[in-house]
Amino acid sequence: MIRKWFKSLSGTPSAELAASEIFDSPAPDDADEQSDRVDAQAPARKLRARGAKSKHAAKAEIHQSWSPEQFAVPPQAGKTRFHDLGIDERLLHGIADLGFEYCSPIQAAVLPQTLCGHDAIGKAQTGTGKTAAFLVTVFNDLLVNPIAEERFVGEPRALIIAPTRELVQQIADDATKLGKYTGLNVLTLIGGMDYQKQLNQLHSTLVDVVVATPGRLLDFQQRKDLYLDQVEILVIDEADRMLDMGFIPQVKRIVRSTPPTSHRQTLLFSATFTPDIMNLTTQWTFEPVNVEIQPERVATDNVTQKVYMVTEREKFQLLRNILKQPDATSVIVFANRRDETRWLCEKLKKSGVNCDMISGEIPQNKRTRTLQDFKDGKLQVLVATDVAGRGIHVDAVSHVVNYALPEDPEDYVHRIGRTGRAGATGTSISFASEDDGFLLPALETLLGKKIDCEMPPAELLS
Ligand code: AMP
Repeated sequence: MIRKWFKSLSGTPSAELAASEIFDSPAPDDADEQSDRVDAQAPARKLRARGAKSKHAAKAEIHQSWSPEQFAVPPQAGKTRFHDLGIDERLLHGIADLGFEYCSPIQAAVLPQTLCGHDAIGKAQTGTGKTAAFLVTVFNDLLVNPIAEERFVGEPRALIIAPTRELVQQIADDATKLGKYTGLNVLTLIGGMDYQKQLNQLHSTLVDVVVATPGRLLDFQQRKDLYLDQVEILVIDEADRMLDMGFIPQVKRIVRSTPPTSHRQTLLFSATFTPDIMNLTTQWTFEPVNVEIQPERVATDNVTQKVYMVTEREKFQLLRNILKQPDATSVIVFANRRDETRWLCEKLKKSGVNCDMISGEIPQNKRTRTLQDFKDGKLQVLVATDVAGRGIHVDAVSHVVNYALPEDPEDYVHRIGRTGRAGATGTSISFASEDDGFLLPALETLLGKKIDCEMPPAELLS
């Protein structure tokens, strides 16, 4: 393991500090970052977990009667099986339950490196399997390197940060499924949810993996309920989105509270790599492997894209009629603003549509329930904003409707990628009105092709 080699080379505190200064030199604008480091180095932990037993222990027992032969996957040229990666059987069992037979391209490229302890930078969007790529790395490392010494509560061994609550929730859901038989404890820390409840979870058992949004994570850390100096693996997901959303100062503070690059493994994913992101990446990783996976094929054969030219006044009736079509079984309607989302959802409900909404103004537990209802097919329509919609990974979405064109063309790509997933076909219908039709050329440039705009069929306007 390359990481162990680093550890044995730089075992003294002074070497650690030196390394931290080399690799994580503080930004001058963030004055209290040094104090984070001091806190991290002078542990004064509140509680010691005595005999804390993981709630997953029972699942680990079920695993005893399983063997990899029960998960038969024939070798195939050009494909990597999870069996071929030498990962821990408890993790392989979870993968088998999910039915993942072969690695996705990003997993095949990244895992052989990251499972050996290397840092990695992945240029990849959602839909590529990047979540499982980093989760498999995290779980396997924690399983094959158990901690013999007594551990303290509030000291995760792995930290995953992502920009939105939905994304964090999605990652945590995937982690729960993948890690079902590992006995490892995954905790989600997100804003909008009860702090005390999350605190109780944090202090009632040893936590192995924390998945969090930056703001809430810092809350816990500043109140000394969470310590990051034992983090062995750090995952930063959707780094570009963190930058867009103004989270980078927080992320910098978080990164500096973890051990230096010489003592931690870092995996960073981003859909785009601007010079700013590149700069941070250089500071936060050590000799990383770089993997670039082509963006989700959004302008794909899987998604039929339509753009209807409409007036603002025609939009609602058009939407209403689209929803009445028999194939519109599971529809996400995107709006640009929270108030528009609310207005649309209420109006749809009043006209008898089985729908609900997710946006930043909805409390997180309600959003989670709504998303689950949509996944379970209990809701026909989900109205969403872009930020909330990012974490929606539902395989059977039949239609995406852009009630208004997104101002950022990248958001269009993300929106329509919510349909046509998992090999299914989907339809995206965008409304272009006198107010936002001017956004189309930028979209065409991004997609690299002309978008045909049409008038909606008369029956859909009646
Ligand atoms: P992600 O890019 O992480 O959002 O993953 C996209 C989807 O692919 C999720 O629904 C995963 O459950 C699924 N997935 C990830 N890895 C695999 C795999 N190796 N085989 C099949 N499905 C996968």
